[in-house]
Amino acid sequence: MAKVRVFSLAKELGLKSSALVKALGHMGVPNLTPASAIDEDTATAVRELLAEQLTKARERAKEAEQTARAEAEVARAAGADPVSGAGDAQTEAAAEEEIKQREEGLESLEREMADHGFGPTHPGAYTSIEEIERHMAEVEATAEPKLQPDAVTPLPELAKRPTGARPDSAVDVAPVVTVLGHVDHGKTALLDALRSTNVVADESGGITQHIGASEVEVGDKRVVFIDTPGHEAFTAIRARGAQINDITVLVIAADDGIMPQTVEAINHAKAADVPIIVAINKCDLPAADPERAKQQLLEHELVPEEWGGDTIVVEISAITKQGLDDLLDMVLLVAEVQELWADSEGDFVGVVIETGVATSEGAVATVLIRNGTLRVGDSIVAGAEHGRVRRLRDWRGKSHKEMGPGRPVEIIGLGGTPDAGEIATRADSPKAAREAAAVRQQQAWERDIEVSRSATLRELFAGMRTGETEQLNVIIKADVYGSAQALESKLLQLDSQLQEVDIEVIYAGVGPINESDVMLARASDAIMIGFHVQASDSVRQTAEAERVEIRIYDIIYEVIDDIIAAASGLLKPVIEEPPIGKAEVLQIFRGSRVGVVAGCRVTEGKLQPGAKMVVVREGEVVYEGTIDSLRHFDQDVSQIEAPGECGVATRGFRQWQVGDIIEASVEQEVERRLSITSDEVIPDEQG
Ligand code: GDP
Ligand code: MG
Repeated sequence: MAKVRVFSLAKELGLKSSALVKALGHMGVPNLTPASAIDEDTATAVRELLAEQLTKARERAKEAEQTARAEAEVARAAGADPVSGAGDAQTEAAAEEEIKQREEGLESLEREMADHGFGPTHPGAYTSIEEIERHMAEVEATAEPKLQPDAVTPLPELAKRPTGARPDSAVDVAPVVTVLGHVDHGKTALLDALRSTNVVADESGGITQHIGASEVEVGDKRVVFIDTPGHEAFTAIRARGAQINDITVLVIAADDGIMPQTVEAINHAKAADVPIIVAINKCDLPAADPERAKQQLLEHELVPEEWGGDTIVVEISAITKQGLDDLLDMVLLVAEVQELWADSEGDFVGVVIETGVATSEGAVATVLIRNGTLRVGDSIVAGAEHGRVRRLRDWRGKSHKEMGPGRPVEIIGLGGTPDAGEIATRADSPKAAREAAAVRQQQAWERDIEVSRSATLRELFAGMRTGETEQLNVIIKADVYGSAQALESKLLQLDSQLQEVDIEVIYAGVGPINESDVMLARASDAIMIGFHVQASDSVRQTAEAERVEIRIYDIIYEVIDDIIAAASGLLKPVIEEPPIGKAEVLQIFRGSRVGVVAGCRVTEGKLQPGAKMVVVREGEVVYEGTIDSLRHFDQDVSQIEAPGECGVATRGFRQWQVGDIIEASVEQEVERRLSITSDEVIPDEQG
């Protein structure tokens, strides 16, 4: 069925995409982004419903205005307050009638939605006519703003660590550490332990805050820990193009060893190219077997230092706090090599780590300051939200007037909650902030629809043709470990056989395709290959929204065929000019109408109009061009075969001589395909 993108439908309806996404959510079609595609039926239903609702809302607004004007008129005429006459039975009856009508309206709307396939009313559906009205008013108010083109630096670029020469205002900054690992291996316990050991309780009463990041002090140095453990937070930020962590601490429970999510975590960290420090946790337990965990690390190409590798492994216990100082020392050691700095006087750039809404304060966003200094009173933009910094708090809840680079800070004053991974910058004025937010929203949509980020095979073809892509990143999920491995090794073999494309298997795992896989695929521009596994509808929705291609296969060679097809597509077709015939010039005719015609006999093959020809005289090429006209007894013909006779004319050449030889050829594109022979892939030709 034909599909319609949400943003184009929004445009058609004269709405902002975000408003339409919201409206669709209310209608029971949740989890869309402006780039999502909805089927034509849904789109039609939406058009009808929204058009009707919008007309109604507009009519009501007009009516209300007229009524107000009429009432004012009456009031002025009577010289009395129009409301004070209320209380009589008539008015009450009218009010009741109105409520009844509204309720009926709501019911009929719900019926209508159900008729249009919006299914059982989902929890976010309208519960009152007022809500719909409010919503529609909101939808109208947010009708597409006029956007100004804006000097655009890719925002995630701004959030990167600076490199190169340090300015005078450069300051050393703390490394940002993410804690990843299998569930229940002690990520939270470790973060809690680190926080409590190194915190001096102050007037704010110690640590009550959970703002998404915390800072641990080690001597005169700091380490920033991202508090939201788990891959989702990690990949969500990376999927937006920003990368904030400098080091990954991989927590492995000593009594449990490497588990599926540990492997996932390893792959995420590797894909992000972030150094891994392994913390073998729960070493206090009698069942702890750190040696076994280290053994298992080998299977994932992490070789502990004590065994000659370069993976730092620390044995710890989050409960007894054994080894925590070591762990922090190691973090600082790795960070030292990274030479992390930022410019305290540069333009403010922050990355949103976490957001929430506090009842008393409205939107609260934790931002990691990457560069510059943020001050109370600054106008800022964060993602598509904007506002003025009313309060700045560190992770312990202490208020600050300003906060420098490298530090996480809680910002109060934004109009809404931006998404994790979005970039915050400063604006010159509240107005500029508002405008920049609108521009950014627009850019976000464009980014979402930008096809280059989605690594579909088709786009891979296109990209490769222009030499932009030479790497095909693949994530494999299979039903059993054996299949995943078999497929991985097949692809690696193929990789070694293909020169045109680099195939990289980012991750090969077991089990159904889940959201985390999709986010990893998105973050690493990979295609998801499922082998004998499925993806749930919600995962597919996420994949579609994130523009990740999921391909499910049952047979290994079909995977290989598809990859080969993709690789073949990048081979530029060769242009060949196989000769088609030869002719000898026997006589020259000169006529005013036809110009100069060479009368020839075809000696080999054939001649045809439009063919390329070279004229050879005594072994030298005297002309190169095309056969513009080919005639036989004054008749245009489509070809003459040997030993036929014909007249050849070309606009570009009149100096024919008897004895000239015509060699004709036809240009043709010959497609090349890669094919696999027993153990080698060779490009072969196929007409
Ligand atoms: P997470 O899912 O990785 O965040 O794991 P948690 O931090 O919630 O820990 C899971 C369980 O393991 C909790 O009951 C913790 O108390 C326990 N735990 C965590 N670290 C240790 C440790 O070092 N030693 C012991 N004995 N138990 C621990
Ligand atoms: Mg936890």
